[in-house]
Amino acid sequence: MDGNNTMFELINDLKDIRLAIFDLDGVIYRGDTLIPNADKIIKEFKDHSIKVVYNSNNSTATRQTYVERLKNFNIESEVSDFYTSASITSAEITKIKRSAKIFVIGEIGLRTELQFLGHTIIAEPTNYKEIDFVIVGLDRDFKYSNLAIAQKCILEGNAKFYATNADSTLPVARGLKPGAGVMVNALKTCTGKEPIRIFGKPEPFGIEMILNDTKISTENAVIFGDRLNTDIIAGNRAGIKTVAVLTGVTTMEMIDELKNKSENSTISDRNLIPNIVIQKLDEVFKKK
Ligand SMILES: [Mg+2]
Repeated sequence: MDGNNTMFELINDLKDIRLAIFDLDGVIYRGDTLIPNADKIIKEFKDHSIKVVYNSNNSTATRQTYVERLKNFNIESEVSDFYTSASITSAEITKIKRSAKIFVIGEIGLRTELQFLGHTIIAEPTNYKEIDFVIVGLDRDFKYSNLAIAQKCILEGNAKFYATNADSTLPVARGLKPGAGVMVNALKTCTGKEPIRIFGKPEPFGIEMILNDTKISTENAVIFGDRLNTDIIAGNRAGIKTVAVLTGVTTMEMIDELKNKSENSTISDRNLIPNIVIQKLDEVFKKK
């Protein structure tokens, strides 16, 4: 199939695309609600033989859960289509140490991905010195007692501090809730230490993993994201095309403001600016 069986073609700016990476929250759905037509657009990409994968900073759910979540929205997918900050963290941590003992501030998604690659999660350490890593992700049941354990593993033990992501907020069906950055900052505050590395966006680890797994080169890849300081920076750092979709946390005013001050801006400011801005995903296809 080369797309000849559909009535649509990609807009010129995206005509060389063979890999489309989608952020989830704010691009495909918001909370429990599908963003209108996102399912149809995903199908259209696949009908054009474009590889579709998903790259989310949300570490709370397992990749299998994401498969089921998308199925409820009529989007077919496989576990291997998902690169969450939890699965990326687990893959990167495994490069640092195999079969590590880990204390987690986070949810089932992060714990499952770490266990899947052979690590042991220690929920109530008796010996703080045996913990190799403290890994922090979004924890919607965040507890003072767990923060105290994490603090002790780092300050009294030898544990190295890593994080899945540092998003300040989490978009939900209506408005925003606190993001993983709140937990990361709590541990920073009580240890006086920065995480050694944050594996999710805006770091490019996930996109680099996707490019490597799919063997598709940067000029044929695009990321669709709603958040400039994660999705768009990560895409720009990885050297792929970046599209901001205004169905999530970013508005046109925010992008205009960035562009207006780009004269005397730093590289990190310029990395916030997407190559393309669209109101909704529907705009990437036009009638033949
Ligand atoms: Mg998002």
